[in-house]
Amino acid sequence: MSAIIYPRMAVVGCGLIGSSVIRAARAAGVVGEVAVADASEAVLERAAELGLADSCSTDPAGAARGADLVVFAVPVMAMGAAMAATAPALKPGATVTDVGSVKSAVADALCAAAPDGVFVIPGHPVAGTEQSGPDAGFASLFQGRWTILTPRPCEDALYQAALERLTAFWMALGARVELMDETHHDLVLAVTSHLPHLIAYNIVGTAADLETVTQGEVMKYSAGGFRDFTRIAASNPIMWRDVFLSNRDAVLEILGRFTEDLQALSRAIRWGEGDKLEALFTRTRAIRLGIVAAGQESPEPNFGRDRERG
Ligand code: NAP
Repeated sequence: MSAIIYPRMAVVGCGLIGSSVIRAARAAGVVGEVAVADASEAVLERAAELGLADSCSTDPAGAARGADLVVFAVPVMAMGAAMAATAPALKPGATVTDVGSVKSAVADALCAAAPDGVFVIPGHPVAGTEQSGPDAGFASLFQGRWTILTPRPCEDALYQAALERLTAFWMALGARVELMDETHHDLVLAVTSHLPHLIAYNIVGTAADLETVTQGEVMKYSAGGFRDFTRIAASNPIMWRDVFLSNRDAVLEILGRFTEDLQALSRAIRWGEGDKLEALFTRTRAIRLGIVAAGQESPEPNFGRDRERG
């Protein structure tokens, strides 16, 4: 157990990520009092049943009053309004952060609504699942995963101290912390997360629309690769709608590159250029091995599913 880093923490949005932050922070012993605010009465009721917080309310300002750390864990396009609702209650010296999957748009929205004297340090834990809601969260979600913080360019010693404190908080939750420019974050995540989700949504949609292959066949033979796309394509529709609308430029740039590369693959198949296919598939296999070696994926065949089934 670590020493308390934030005597009072408020979490606005108590879904998968918000509830995981609470669980992990409490397990690590780095927070004192925890206040939760959420727009959904059902979520608040469930958070209370699970004993996630000392207080649960629909009022973000009430939750944030007196907080040393306020974490916004709502969909990306709801961040600005949530911050604006909270702003009058923030105490000077409080740190405001978020967990949104897009950083430039969220940082602008948070800063626009932030009162003087609070430290806005946007963040993104690169960890999650396809599930939503307070029941889906768990304390070990951030263990060994990266949390990217995108501090604003600011030399102020108090801001730097707030950044060190927030870094220590995430590390206590088991995360590895990296500092990054917010625009670069959005480009990197467009490649590693946003485009893969778009591809998954698209391929599952395409398969569902095919008339020559029945729905039954799609389900029956899904272990041929399709199944892994369906997990990603089951992700929260609101969250992902917001991600694509908020990170439009970076996603479109990466999508353009992807489309060119797909055309090249299509050409290689058409002209029987097996060497080109083999060279690419060999390179991509090495990338997977690199991800496993970096501890970011299970080395088990088929993600360990077969072993789980015993
Ligand atoms: P989630 O499970 O759906 O939780 C979001 C919660 O916020 C819901 O309870 C939602 O209530 C509530 N909410 C929505 N608008 C609100 C508002 N204006 N004020 C207060 N509460 C509000 O979503 P999540 O997966 O935890 O995602 C939360 C954030 O984390 C997103 O910004 C996402 O980009 C980021 N993130 C997600 C993942 C992931 O894998 N899921 C990973 C990293 C980062 P309703 O249900 O009533 O809408």
